[in-house]
Amino acid sequence: MLARTARIIRPRAWQLPARAQGAPAGALVLTRTVFGLLLAGICALAETLQAQSNGSGGQPPAAEAPYPPVPSIPAIGVQNTNYLHVPASALGPSVDPAKGYRRQDLGQGLYMVTDNIYQSMFLVYDHGVVVIDAPPSYAPRIPQAIAEVTTKPITHVIYSHSHTDHIGGTRSLDGRPIIVAQEETLRLLRRAADPNRPLPTVTFADRYTLHVGKQVLELSYHGDAHEPGNIFIYAPAQKVLMAVDLVFPGWMMWRRFAVAHDIPGVFAQVEEIRKMPWQTLVGGHVARTGTHADVDVQAEFMGDVKQAAAAALATTKPGEGTDPRDAANPWALFDNYIDRVATKCVNALVPKWATRLAAFDVYVWDQCFAMEQSLRID
Ligand SMILES: [Zn+2]
Repeated sequence: MLARTARIIRPRAWQLPARAQGAPAGALVLTRTVFGLLLAGICALAETLQAQSNGSGGQPPAAEAPYPPVPSIPAIGVQNTNYLHVPASALGPSVDPAKGYRRQDLGQGLYMVTDNIYQSMFLVYDHGVVVIDAPPSYAPRIPQAIAEVTTKPITHVIYSHSHTDHIGGTRSLDGRPIIVAQEETLRLLRRAADPNRPLPTVTFADRYTLHVGKQVLELSYHGDAHEPGNIFIYAPAQKVLMAVDLVFPGWMMWRRFAVAHDIPGVFAQVEEIRKMPWQTLVGGHVARTGTHADVDVQAEFMGDVKQAAAAALATTKPGEGTDPRDAANPWALFDNYIDRVATKCVNALVPKWATRLAAFDVYVWDQCFAMEQSLRID
């Protein structure tokens, strides 16, 4: 099931002299992550592939080998030519290619709009429409999605956070709406000075309740995690929570815990999301909305990554098996150490998770590298 082929990419660095002196011909010693893994583990690769396809992944490293057996999932920088199958449970309804978006009714005037990669929302009230996020990938079609249900104008835009991939299409929206965001988002957008991300006109620190006609949106800031200023948007009548770049229903998180600004903060906010009384989660990414079961699965995965990285750190020593000529190169020693920790971490996660989360193989190395780093310094 997991067997695959990994084509080795040889960048120009292959020709660089790894050492000025002393290396015998044909014995270039490379310290880059990928080549370290490959050189030490290439001989074991075939037998590891066989072992993992038999369901015995996560075996301890051989005593004589400084690197644990290399997982069958290609490491960062190695081309994956055979990505794992995406389970049907991770997919949502398809998008009409002629429209380029899909509109999903979330009840009582609230809708999700998605291209099955990004997600945003809009809320219709007595006199207008509130748009929440405007991903540039389909923002020019948001007015069309709104026109399918109302002729009322866009009066407000809410930014979930400052990242351009979620709000960089705001200029595509008609009129001059009031823009609401957390005050850290204003700070970051001032710094970005991006004409495609107009500055918020209303900001808040902790909480802001938007009353428009009979509709209500509760905005709240829970501190730094994905990014300073990233807020939760809760529609109490519809029991819909929008919290962006934190939970990926059915899918592996985007790399490095979704490019987390603060990894412990992401763990804390996923726990907060678990405990909140919503019925539908809009996570800002992938095709479908989320359920509490999706959040439980992701929290369990995150806990397992943390445990696997902690166990790998506890059983791995810096410097073991390294070349004495690298003794004065601490970066090389830690490159080797961190590689071995991450390799153990990935091996520990493969048996349980490879088929439970879509695209597990795409970012599991990123999660392990990020987790061991967070555990060492946060
Ligand atoms: Zn983001």
